[in-house]
This record gives sequence, structure tokens and C-alpha cells, in this order.
Amino acid sequence: MEHSRASFVLGHHQEQAKVVYCQAGEPTLLVTELSPFHPQSHLWPDQPGDIGTVCWHGGEADVGPCRMGAISPEGELFVDTEIPVKRGAEGWAFVVVHPLAGRHELAVGSTVELKVDAKARHALSLGHSACHLAALALNRVLTPYWRKEVSERDALGQPDFDRLAIQTSRVEPCGSREQYRIGKSLRKKGVNSEALLAELAQIEGLINDQLVQWLATGGDIRRSRAGEAIIESRYWHCVLEGAEVTIPCGGTHVGSLAELGRVSVQLSPSEEGFTLLTRVAP
Ligand SMILES: [Zn+2]
Repeated sequence: MEHSRASFVLGHHQEQAKVVYCQAGEPTLLVTELSPFHPQSHLWPDQPGDIGTVCWHGGEADVGPCRMGAISPEGELFVDTEIPVKRGAEGWAFVVVHPLAGRHELAVGSTVELKVDAKARHALSLGHSACHLAALALNRVLTPYWRKEVSERDALGQPDFDRLAIQTSRVEPCGSREQYRIGKSLRKKGVNSEALLAELAQIEGLINDQLVQWLATGGDIRRSRAGEAIIESRYWHCVLEGAEVTIPCGGTHVGSLAELGRVSVQLSPSEEGFTLLTRVAP
């Protein structure tokens, strides 16, 4: 079996596709050769899977939220954290799993019409684009809190605090929630955690000022991918400060900074670090 082909990177919401696997149950698990649905990643589950509907000759069902799956060489489907192999394992097909409400028997080879809930997708795209922007602004504002030269740099060439300190990231409709931890290794790398944690309120203000400046430029956002298969690398590109910055990203996004309207963050202390709450007012 082949890997699922994914079209959400192209901004598609709807596709006609052939069924390649169907496991009837509660829910029924449907796999098609092509899908417009964004599945939640099993490796870095930041963005929830798309929801929507599927219809076929004589029936329809609600779909989602979609997950990642892998089908073994013997034809057994493993979903999300049950996936026992790495991407690209010999003979395994990585697929988009569409959970259908109710028990349905769909014949392999039959055609279905898949339709993503565009409103729900858009709200998550707003949240995910804002999340990337907030991370870049956070890195910029935290640059003076590094006491040593750091080799890990972000897409703007700044010390990549976001990547080094992030514990969890959850994209939500029109926002996101990130958890950062400044542990021993990060303090050793040179982060002045005492000053940083004492000045969260000022840092929050500076991030919000930076976001206003960037959003005023209304730069374009585009996506690219190494290939059609769901396991191929995908990227986020955004014009910021006159240049295009690139970040590896498997999620969905809006088409420009202008669509975001206003983005603001809120920082709150938490155990050995802080949480960053990002909100979009489109
Ligand atoms: Zn992303």
C-alpha cells in the first residue's frame, strides 16, 4: 500500500478519493488514497486534526478529528501513539485516518467525497500562524537574556529559545498555548533565568509591541512541501522584515499576516518556566 497523499498544504478543503482501507466500528476508521484533512501529528501533536464530513453513494458521516496512522505490511492499521515504527519503515504505509461517526462498511476501491469543515480549519490556521509569529517575537525579546553565545538559531538568526525550552505546544481555534521550561541544561547554556522570570511582564509588553510592528507589514505566508505523501517534509514561509523566513511545519496556515488582524500574548509563570498564551483577533 502507498502512503496517503495530502492536499491540506495546498489549502484544499475538498477531494474525491478512492477508499484503500475501512475498518467498521465505533468509530469506523477510513483511509483514502488522497485526503484534504489535516491529521494531528503523532510525534508533535501541536495542531488538532481537521473535522468535517464524508459522503458516498447512499450515505454520509461526520469525520474527525483526523489522526495519523500506519498500515503494516500485513495490512493491520495502527493509529496515533500505537504506531510502532518510524516514518519510512520498509513496507509500511503512513496514512491519514478519518474516524467516522457510526459503523459503516465502505468497499475498498469505491469513491467517497471528503469535505473539511472550512470554518474550524480557518480558526486553527489563524492560531497556528500566530503561534509561529509569537515564537519568533519571543526569541527576539529574549536575546538580551542569553549570557553566552548560542549556536541554535531560529529562522531570523536569533538565539532559538523557543526550540530549546518548549515542552508542549497546543494550537487552538484563534490561538495557541505553549509551555516553556528553563531547566538546568538551558541555564548552563547561558539563559539568565532569574532575570527572565522576574521580568515576564516587561517581556510580554515587548513581544506585543513586536507583533504589532510585524502585523502592520501584512507579509505573505505560503506553504511548500518536499512531496505529496503525508510523511514528506512541509514548510511555512513568511515575509518578515523584507525577507522570507522558513520554518519546518506540518500544520495549516492563513495566507498572509494581514489575515491575522491583531495578535497578542500573555505570559504566566509556571513551574521552572512560563506559559505563553497567544490570542488572535482577526
Ligand atoms: Zn508549526
